[in-house]
Amino acid sequence: MTTTIPFFAHDLGAAELAAVAEVLAGPILTTGETVARFEARFAAYLGARHAVGMTSCTGAIHLALEAFGIGDGDEVITTPMTFIATATAILQAGARPVFVDVEPTTGNLDPAAVEAAITSRTKAIVPVHLYGLMCDMRALRAIADRHGLKVIEDAAHCIEGERDGARPGALGDAACFSFYATKAITCGEGGALVVNDADLAARLRLLRLHGMNKSAADRQREGYQHWDMVEFGWKYNMDNIQAALLLPQMERMEANCERRAALAEAYRAQIRARGIDVALPSPVARTRHAHHLFPVWTSAAIRDDVVGALQAQGVGVVVNYRAIHLLSYLRDRLGYPRGSFPNAERIGDSTLSLPLYPTMPIDHVAVVVAALEKAVAGAEVAR
Ligand SMILES: *Cc1c(COP(=O)(O)O)cnc(C)c1O
Repeated sequence: MTTTIPFFAHDLGAAELAAVAEVLAGPILTTGETVARFEARFAAYLGARHAVGMTSCTGAIHLALEAFGIGDGDEVITTPMTFIATATAILQAGARPVFVDVEPTTGNLDPAAVEAAITSRTKAIVPVHLYGLMCDMRALRAIADRHGLKVIEDAAHCIEGERDGARPGALGDAACFSFYATKAITCGEGGALVVNDADLAARLRLLRLHGMNKSAADRQREGYQHWDMVEFGWKYNMDNIQAALLLPQMERMEANCERRAALAEAYRAQIRARGIDVALPSPVARTRHAHHLFPVWTSAAIRDDVVGALQAQGVGVVVNYRAIHLLSYLRDRLGYPRGSFPNAERIGDSTLSLPLYPTMPIDHVAVVVAALEKAVAGAEVAR
């Protein structure tokens, strides 16, 4: 299969090579000064007090739950319309993911459904800012405060977004970010936690490195001194090479987000102009969308055929996401049958994501839209 328009392409180059070369010329490859610089830069961008560099967003969600003492016997309310990591991180902490349905027009967690699912065992809410559109954080924060719950944002799709004047991390107790290969900034694999509480940030730094109270960078700076293991911890610390890859991308992040917004607007206009029989998620007022993905919603009957026909025309596509409560392991372990979450299931059965990345030439939008029109028309005729 020849893909003429890829689903995604990163834009890493000379600036990132130079930044990595600088780390390689120094003594500390693991967590050190470059990570500290990235953390300061990332926190400042978000207007948050503290960022803690991690090896993944999955680890960030897990560690946030651990830091809040959430585990065995506890329930954590989240969405089935997400990547599996949101739920597996909750399982890693020993808690139970309790899924609730999403808004039909956005795919984001429905605050009313969240409140209806709260029990005496509920300890936290993990909203996912799906596709780059923030959840209604003001509503979720109010619900959490009424019931004494933590809010841990899965902001893997949404560094640049804003809603009702709040950015990711502003209203949550912690916000978790991913620097996985296809995310807005990337170091191949990586993540971060953003929090506003200094004690919590210090605890997260312990928990991300085995519960050790000294790091390799401390030894380099101060010479060897005995360290102690003061807590049970994990191995989730971001290293200087990852941070070096990320720092130059911070300079392009706003421009790249604007670029994706322009591509998304072109997609919307051309899909409407051609009258293609697909639905698009609804815009939300007082919101800046981070445009991590550009999904279109076909009918469930033709989705897989449309995916196949687009790929046959050389257009890279991905499905984000099939509702995760129906995936074998989670269905067997959590026991939610089909029909449990009609909105998430409808989106999961009908969604596909079109190519979207900052270096995508704007005239490729017309090529993709023409391929989509042909794919949809062909699939509808075949039914
Ligand atoms: C990518 C992603 C994750 C996982 O991120 P990693 O850094 O790969 O652990 C979690 N949640 C969502 C919604 C994602 O898209």
